Amino acid sequence: MYGTGLAKGLLLTMRHFVESYVDDIRYGFRKYHHATDNFGIRQGTKTKGVITVQYPDEKVAVPERFRFVPFLIIEDEDHPTRAGKDWCTSCGICAKVCPPQCIWIVRGNDPNTGRPVPEPEAFFIDIDICMNCGYCAEYCPFDAIKMDHDYELASYDRTTHHIHDKEKLSKPNSYWRSIAPTRAYEEMLARGTWEHKDAAKEARRGAASPRRSAPRPAVEQPAASAPAKSEATGPAEANAAPAPTAEGATPWTEDEAKREERRRKALERKARRAAQRGQ
Ligand code: SF4
Ligand code: SF4
Repeated sequence: MYGTGLAKGLLLTMRHFVESYVDDIRYGFRKYHHATDNFGIRQGTKTKGVITVQYPDEKVAVPERFRFVPFLIIEDEDHPTRAGKDWCTSCGICAKVCPPQCIWIVRGNDPNTGRPVPEPEAFFIDIDICMNCGYCAEYCPFDAIKMDHDYELASYDRTTHHIHDKEKLSKPNSYWRSIAPTRAYEEMLARGTWEHKDAAKEARRGAASPRRSAPRPAVEQPAASAPAKSEATGPAEANAAPAPTAEGATPWTEDEAKREERRRKALERKARRAAQRGQ
């Protein structure tokens, strides 16, 4: 019948109007409190009616999985060994998977040797091109790039404000844990540590084999001048050179000899096999 749709629409509007007041009474006006943790009340599944948000004075909290432009994770300033260090290893995977190709990375080099180091020297994201798909964060093997909750990025100058450089992109790990505690916890479980994957691996290696990080020249030093075991504990202890044995030889000197013996035997075996093949 003509006009039925119009009547239904008006009834729906009337229902929302009434429900708004019913909800106010039910939640005792807590819906309008400016605290940022009232998202569940204001836009929860049980909330009915219409609410007005007085933006920008008032902001509705975004859900944890909300994503806007990406940012890079760096260590917190109070980290005992890696304060301010990048989690990004400049592997370039995020730049490869980014559908609109808005990530640009310059790999870092050691200024002394010129060899590449696992840190980005420069990192840019054009946030006007970024479509907030989150692929970069999904594919990063080091959990180094994450999607931010900050959506207030409008400005008058695109070139100076909308191409985010490394400085602008970098945010501490504690920030990520504060905006996405559940995700951060899940990632920690998957990595097996709150630390960066490589840093944790390096620490494990150092603890298992102190000679890896010990100063190499100590091998040639006479037993009397070999560095004594540090009294410090923790990472410093892992970095300390091992103490000389009772015989006066450093433990790694013995390992070197064994390794040399194994290498010699392997070469002999290889030569024997080559000779057999030649017969
Ligand atoms: S953010 Fe992740 S994927 Fe991108 S370059 Fe850095 S480590 Fe690689
Ligand atoms: S969110 Fe998507 S579009 Fe934006 S930088 Fe990451 S991969 Fe590229």
